Amino acid sequence: MTDETFRFQVDRIIPESPRVKSFRLRPEESEMPFRFRPGQHMGVRPARQGLSDPEHEKWRHFSLSGSPGDDCLEITILRQGTVSDRMHTLAEGDWVETTRPVGTFTLEEPVGHGPVFFAGGIGIAPIRSMIRFCMEEGLGEAISLFASFPAPEQVIYGEEMKTWANRSPGFSCWLTYTGPGGERNPPAPASHPWDRAFLEERIERPLNRVYYLCAPRGLMEQVESHLEAMGVPAEQVHAERW
Ligand SMILES: Cc1cc2nc3c(=O)[nH]c(=O)nc-3n(C[C@H](O)[C@H](O)[C@H](O)COP(=O)(O)OP(=O)(O)OC[C@H]3O[C@@H](n4cnc5c(N)ncnc54)[C@H](O)[C@@H]3O)c2cc1C
Repeated sequence: MTDETFRFQVDRIIPESPRVKSFRLRPEESEMPFRFRPGQHMGVRPARQGLSDPEHEKWRHFSLSGSPGDDCLEITILRQGTVSDRMHTLAEGDWVETTRPVGTFTLEEPVGHGPVFFAGGIGIAPIRSMIRFCMEEGLGEAISLFASFPAPEQVIYGEEMKTWANRSPGFSCWLTYTGPGGERNPPAPASHPWDRAFLEERIERPLNRVYYLCAPRGLMEQVESHLEAMGVPAEQVHAERW
């Protein structure tokens, strides 16, 4: 994938929901070896555990879910296959390798009246980085988050969302539950509540906002078509497709 790799030690593992954990990663050297922009992602793999480790070569990309101002990196991983399973078996003190962060799904300034975020399931990982950065930098009068999960016990960062709401009067959050889930890219249910009327009722000054979407593809396409119908220019809508 790349010749330039970096080593980080797993400093803390935070269970977020039954199949999702966050990993705080401390750099091997005391200084952070690179900077990143909220929304970017990097290649990650567990460091080699032994000489005969055939799975070691596989990289997967994970979004940086913390803020660029943190002293550790943070990633949040849904357990669903080869590398994510291996990441979930790591313990604090283990090591991972990463690439340099990349990606163009990044927070743009100016944000107009404020950014509007749409997150479906694990798609909330890059969105969390953006929200934390907006709050730290005081960007936008309003920050709106629409987040969709299969069920209340599968909400990721639920406690943190309450803290954001308590700390910042401009922050609004709407949580939606869509029933059984767990598939990688489930089709958006025809009855998903994020329809045009739902969005128009909740988004103040919709033409003066910047939109960021990271969700299963079908759901993102639905939201994009509602925003278009509301008259939002396409250049104000940014989507991350995994
Ligand atoms: C830009 C970007 C950012 C990303 N950010 C994140 C992030 O922040 N957090 C995150 O969790 N993920 C993120 N991903 C997804 C991540 O990179 C991996 O794709 C994901 O973790 C799956 O990799 P894996 O090795 O665990 O699964 P793989 O082994 O590659 O399997 C992929 C999928 O196929 C299914 N599968 C595998 N084998 C079979 C089989 N035999 N039969 C049926 N189904 C099978 C698995 O269940 C899984 O859903 C991101 C991806 C991109 C491109």
